[in-house]
Amino acid sequence: MNSSQNIFPDKRVLRRSDKEKILKQRAKAIWLTGLSGSGKTTLAIELENALIEKGFFTQILDGDIVRMGINNNLGFSEKDRKENIRRVAEVSKLFINCGIITINCFVSPTIVIRREAKNIIGVDDFIEVFINTPLEICEKRDVKGLYAKARKGEVLDFTGVNAPWEEPENADINVFTNKMTVAESLKSLINQVIPLVTQA
Ligand code: ADP
Repeated sequence: MNSSQNIFPDKRVLRRSDKEKILKQRAKAIWLTGLSGSGKTTLAIELENALIEKGFFTQILDGDIVRMGINNNLGFSEKDRKENIRRVAEVSKLFINCGIITINCFVSPTIVIRREAKNIIGVDDFIEVFINTPLEICEKRDVKGLYAKARKGEVLDFTGVNAPWEEPENADINVFTNKMTVAESLKSLINQVIPLVTQA
């Protein structure tokens, strides 16, 4: 039997569109990119709650969490960062094929890395969201104390300090968090996401 054959000949393999119909949504990857401390995880959690409340179905994929599981053998070299993103993009694609909206929180620091994710997921399904928070603000927040450690040379390959960060040039959505409350940033984000995930 080849892989395209259906093991239940009287039934057809359900397609993504069937599942999207059940879930009453269009599946997309909402890809949040930004520096550490920019607000990706905070806004992903808020966005997921807001979408679920409105009847959508979602899955968060967060860098810190996948690095404890499927990507626990990867570090922060350029090669490992690329592999990290390749795997999570493939995982996102599986969710999308199941009709589920993914909310991805990954620094994904370079144009090449984000392009790779977009190519894997597919141009039409990849929504690039730039959590646009200046480095000095992220560093001031220093949620995990990593900027201080990176400045002292105790953490190497830290994006924005001793590893490259390239801002997205043409993000689909820009979210500013500097001088904005979480609620204000969320409002701007959700207003732009909802039309993209709503079925015609
Ligand atoms: P990341 O996931 O990008 O590393 P986090 O979400 O873990 O960032 O941390 C962002 C921090 O910034 C949190 O402590 C959050 O409360 C704070 N913050 C302040 N204003 C905002 C805002 N408008 N949007 C998102 N986070 C904000």
